[in-house]
Amino acid sequence: MISSIAFIIVLAATVFLFYRSVNIIIKNIKLGKPLDINDQKGKRWKTMFLVAIGQSKMVKRPIAGILHLMVYVGFIIVNVEMLEILIDGISGSHRIYAFLPFYNILISIFEIFALAVIISCLVFLFRRNGLRLSRFHKAEMTSWPKLDANIILITEVLLMSALFSMNAADQVLQLNGAEHFTQTGAFLISGLIVPLFANLSESTLLFIEGFGWWFHIVGVFAFLNYIPYSKHFHVFLAFPNVYYTKLKPAAYISNMEAVTNEVKIAMGIISEEEAGNDEVDRFGAKDVRDLTWKSLSDAYTCTECGRCTDVCPANLTGKLLSPRKLIMDTRDRLEIVGKGVSKNGTEFDDSKALWGDFISPEELWACTTCNSCTNECPVNIDHVSIIMELRRYSSLEEASTPATLNAALTNIENNGAPWQYSQDDRMLWADGMEVPVMADVFGAGKKTEYLFWVSSAGAFDDRYKKVIRSFTKILNHLKVDFAVLGTEESDSGDLARRAGNEMLFQMQALMNIEVLNGYEVKKIVCCDPHDFNTLKNEYADLGGNYEVIHHTQFLQELINAGKLKIDGDAFEGSTITYHDPCYLGRGNGEYDSPRAVLDAIPSVKVEMKNNKASSLCCGAGGGQMFKEAESGDKEIYMERTEQALGTGCNIVATACPFCMAMITDGIKYSEKEAKVKNYDIAELVAISMNL
Ligand code: SF4
Ligand code: SF4
Repeated sequence: MISSIAFIIVLAATVFLFYRSVNIIIKNIKLGKPLDINDQKGKRWKTMFLVAIGQSKMVKRPIAGILHLMVYVGFIIVNVEMLEILIDGISGSHRIYAFLPFYNILISIFEIFALAVIISCLVFLFRRNGLRLSRFHKAEMTSWPKLDANIILITEVLLMSALFSMNAADQVLQLNGAEHFTQTGAFLISGLIVPLFANLSESTLLFIEGFGWWFHIVGVFAFLNYIPYSKHFHVFLAFPNVYYTKLKPAAYISNMEAVTNEVKIAMGIISEEEAGNDEVDRFGAKDVRDLTWKSLSDAYTCTECGRCTDVCPANLTGKLLSPRKLIMDTRDRLEIVGKGVSKNGTEFDDSKALWGDFISPEELWACTTCNSCTNECPVNIDHVSIIMELRRYSSLEEASTPATLNAALTNIENNGAPWQYSQDDRMLWADGMEVPVMADVFGAGKKTEYLFWVSSAGAFDDRYKKVIRSFTKILNHLKVDFAVLGTEESDSGDLARRAGNEMLFQMQALMNIEVLNGYEVKKIVCCDPHDFNTLKNEYADLGGNYEVIHHTQFLQELINAGKLKIDGDAFEGSTITYHDPCYLGRGNGEYDSPRAVLDAIPSVKVEMKNNKASSLCCGAGGGQMFKEAESGDKEIYMERTEQALGTGCNIVATACPFCMAMITDGIKYSEKEAKVKNYDIAELVAISMNL
């Protein structure tokens, strides 16, 4: 009776304290900006089942994945036994399910999982503290985060060990015919240690059994109340957080509606009256309350596993940026703001902010927006959203964009391209070629099936002009019905958006959309994966809806349809490796088309160590192409080029103007120019076809 009352008091206190802690976390998450995520429910459930319940991303690294799965499944299954313990604790019964016919088999199954949990936790402890895997020993993983991980692992080992000693003592008491100890038959794992308990007195056995029982249950209660203060809160939040995953392509960046009206007024598309007077407090995010609730939920869901940091090209090359630290900083800052708000109300201000006090410009501007981190994260955390909101604040409110990047943005503003070239020179790349221009075609009362988007790099970068010319030759050779915008094309705005200058992005986008819609464009083919992403995924938010095809997809379709036959042998005997552009691969899930086109070219193909979804960024995205890299041990493009050269290839195939510039530099600085060439896939096709 006394023991039941004591148990009920401990249980009630556990539930109350846990409810209070969870409530604080929910309140803190609600401090974020509203974001309506209620679309595609079927897809959301599917993602949750695959990623959160099925742990699909964890098992990509088989050893750690399987061990984690053992802890995860083991903990869930072992805790089914908790139900019996709870009922016993409240009612004062002993093993209330013991009447079940296969009770000992059931407990034996629980014990197998409990053993798996112990083994996995011991291996994890060894990996962290013995092997000292680098991702567990980065700068952000000292003091509390390090201790927290060890506390959890040791606690899990102790809890499971208590279960075994309880069961072993119980079996000896059963054998001795002790009162209340129902005959259940032997348990598989604890049965192995029964001989150790065989000669103990009944009172000692009762103490061990009772101690094991209380230690296990009180340990679980304490563990439950520790979790909200630990990274292990992900065991609860992972499910809703994955459910609310961003379902758009990874490279898509959300539209800033607050800016759209201002831009439309500035461009004379709407009047101030039509726009209404929605006051905007702040553009982008300076502090956690400027982020959406989803970003704040991400912060609480982080498991601190470091998989994101492990694949971050900036971190890999010694730069300060660590995507895990970014998420941990967001959570730490939110905890401070949450406490402040609950004490002082919403006016709370401690003169500190996430931007500047927690995350420095050096970290922020090192990001290439490659999405390696978001792709790798086992709980689908979106680091890039936070980075983008901070960049928007930095750019729109502080005008503190890095100087060289800012110069490129000024060029876009003045000339419609990141370089100082005149808009009138946009067709110089086509000198001596037959290239239909949309204004002429439309003026003649005709329409074309495709609009070929040339891009700023295609129009002005000397090396990339050759790619555009090669692709145009293929289009002409196959008599594809296409036209270009010529001098009416302006920069897509991809660079401006990634640099946080949403005003400039939207101006460029709205200007281009007006031209494209004016020509009733439906299908766009494009070589630059950055523009491909922007036109395909981001223009739709501003009224530009097109079917956008990357040139490698276009070529693959022509090959599949039997319209494009590559029978030349220019590359026979060559060894080609393909570098996946982030904005085509991870950003938009296209890995196969470029490879399919390469497969149609007689040559040997080899893959780099990092390929497809785990491909390493070239270092140019997210505005990096137009600014100095932050200090580190190495340039990202050198790291990637070394991977390419490591395959023994003599050709590195690319499908992006920025990748081409970076890999070309990498080959040059590796002094391999005589032996290794860098070609775009369109060039390889055109050369093979003798065009
Ligand atoms: S997007 Fe790429 S560079 Fe940026 S934090 Fe993530 S992994 Fe690092
Ligand atoms: S953000 Fe994701 S990948 Fe990075 S440490 Fe947290 S859980 Fe791991």
